[in-house]
Amino acid sequence: MPQALQLPESLQALHTLAYNLKWSWTPSTQELFAQINPTLWKESRSNPVEVLKNTEESRLTELAADESFVAKVNAEHKALEAYLSDTAPSLAGEVGQGLAKGIESLSGPIAYFSMEYGITESLPIYAGGLGVLAGDHTKSASDLNIPFVGIGMMYRSGYFEQSLDENGLQQSLYPERDFSNLPVLPVLDGEGQPLILDIPLPHRKLFFRIWEAKVGRSTLYLLDTQLNTNREEDRELTAKLYGGDTTTRICQELLIGVGGVRALQAMGVNASVYHLNEGHAAFVGIERVRQAIEQDGSLSLEQAIEQVKGSQVFTTHTPVPAGHDRFMTDMVRPYFQALLPENQHGNIQDLLELGLEYKDHMNSLFCMTVLALHTCRACNGVSKIHGDVSRKMWQHLWPQSEADDVPIGHITNGIHAATWTSTTYSKLFDQYIGEGWESHLVDDAAWNKVNEIPAGALWDARQACKAALIDFARYRVRLQRSIRNESAEALEAANSILDPNAFTIGFARRFAPYKRATLIFSDSERLSAILNNSERPVQILFAGKAHPHNREGQALIQTIHDFAKKPEFAGKIVLLENYDMAVGRHLVQGVDLWLNNPTPPQEASGTSGQKVAFNGGVNLSILDGWWDEGYNGENGWAIGDGKLFDQVQQQNDHDVNSMYSLLENDIVPMYYNRDADGVPQEWIAKVRKAMQTLISPFNTHRMVRDYLTDIYAAN
Ligand SMILES: *Cc1c(COP(=O)(O)O)cnc(C)c1O
Repeated sequence: MPQALQLPESLQALHTLAYNLKWSWTPSTQELFAQINPTLWKESRSNPVEVLKNTEESRLTELAADESFVAKVNAEHKALEAYLSDTAPSLAGEVGQGLAKGIESLSGPIAYFSMEYGITESLPIYAGGLGVLAGDHTKSASDLNIPFVGIGMMYRSGYFEQSLDENGLQQSLYPERDFSNLPVLPVLDGEGQPLILDIPLPHRKLFFRIWEAKVGRSTLYLLDTQLNTNREEDRELTAKLYGGDTTTRICQELLIGVGGVRALQAMGVNASVYHLNEGHAAFVGIERVRQAIEQDGSLSLEQAIEQVKGSQVFTTHTPVPAGHDRFMTDMVRPYFQALLPENQHGNIQDLLELGLEYKDHMNSLFCMTVLALHTCRACNGVSKIHGDVSRKMWQHLWPQSEADDVPIGHITNGIHAATWTSTTYSKLFDQYIGEGWESHLVDDAAWNKVNEIPAGALWDARQACKAALIDFARYRVRLQRSIRNESAEALEAANSILDPNAFTIGFARRFAPYKRATLIFSDSERLSAILNNSERPVQILFAGKAHPHNREGQALIQTIHDFAKKPEFAGKIVLLENYDMAVGRHLVQGVDLWLNNPTPPQEASGTSGQKVAFNGGVNLSILDGWWDEGYNGENGWAIGDGKLFDQVQQQNDHDVNSMYSLLENDIVPMYYNRDADGVPQEWIAKVRKAMQTLISPFNTHRMVRDYLTDIYAAN
């Protein structure tokens, strides 16, 4: 059991501040923790619990006697309490009123099921975009005062920590976390002991406990199977995110789906809506149908399914067929046999068919997405194009319908503004959009006021954010080199990589081959000419992990590593290791241009380019996912004009040519075209257009509002 933190009397409030992740979008609270112990703050990846646990008593005593520090602690604590108890609508005007009405109509909290949550880098229970989206959703639900609980998993090692060896070969490390260093507390039973629940698996029970993480007004319940009462392999179910084999995966999915429903019941949470974020948790439906029949023996299976469906909704996240979990049907059957009581065994075949892609096919696979589509009253993709692609992709489930009539809609993804906006820009928004600018996030007109921000102020903010990114990149590269035992000169040289005045491009994402991370290297001479123009220098920062089983992805990393070592690119192409929310935050806040060039139409939405718009950055992207909706001809650049080719090579050639010529003829010249004060007026006009048109449509306040009015409350 984690001990309460030992804190001097006058600093007790730090405990509350550390154990509510509201700090992760509250810069003033972050400053407080940094001030306690700047080194530890940095080394712990911004982890307040670790800072408080490991700071020397003498330092805490000193701070406890520092009146101005104590006053700050109390002010932060008061602000948190005020946030938690505030009942006023958090969005200005009519939008706020509409929101309040939607919230009133809910009979209970939204229960959101997700295999990953990206809340902050020091809580490593996420891998990438899906998790970051879930985290941003959780935070906006809190800000908007929508009752919300998230069900997830408390991984001992999470995804993996990436480092590269001297040849650019990815090493994946799985450090085990001590949960007492994390901002989670165990859920207890009536006797004050950790609450232990179980679900049936073939020939055994799977036991699990629950950790609670507070995220503002939202709560995450994170399931954990590391208990001595479990078999060895069952304890491993919550060790790694997306690790193991199909047996691991199916058991994890039973845990989050069946175990998640039972956890909510055991804690007395009466959810009004069960939201399945991706198909992973679709067993929620099976457990709820089982319970419905157990409670009311007169219900037919069909009636039970209809009843359950009435309060279940589903968001699908990938247009890539291999991204959907599929199992051999015979593999699933024994799990259903274990789950259902004898008197319901007659239903097993019908329940299995809910997940079958092709009902009349002997060997049809059981697909979690299909199960979700069949057991939810509302289903959506995450951008307009992705909605289209999904309707086509799943049309065979509705053979009588035209693709347009397949019941999958879309709500375009967004980002949580306060998490991803640098304090530099946040201050400008407070000044020009209005104090508490986040309350205007769903108000297009409010963002016309960015035109009132002086060009000089926008430019200074841009330069300051870029300088912060370069400081961070140098620190990280030095660290990477020291871990590889490189020479003292190499470590020293890290201090002068990248030029704070050069045009800076960012590219960071999962290294899945369809993302085409190395596309820009197609013609290395042409690239070198762009980067090495002495009047108009350009540099590129890369980051991203490849799944440890994905060799192709790892080869892409090596290619970038090799290019970065070539003399003409040294110090200008920089690969940052271990892409996580911290690396992501620095990149999206610091770069001038965000590059995104996946093979269309395989990007479900993408969100990292949205983060850039909040920080004075501009997008150069394929017209896919969110950018197809965001791009208006003036607020950034589109690679390839949305043209689609059947041949991969043709698509690549077309897209990379478009990218090079945009950089050569439009983007870089515009950036370096300066007025007498050294300000690139035309560039800043572009930045303003991006802010004016992209901030209010592409944030999670807007997104969660849409989920509330179009899905949660629309029944
Ligand atoms: C925003 C973010 C993502 C989402 O990235 P896309 O490539 O745009 O889908 C993934 N990982 C991290 C760390 C992020 O911050």
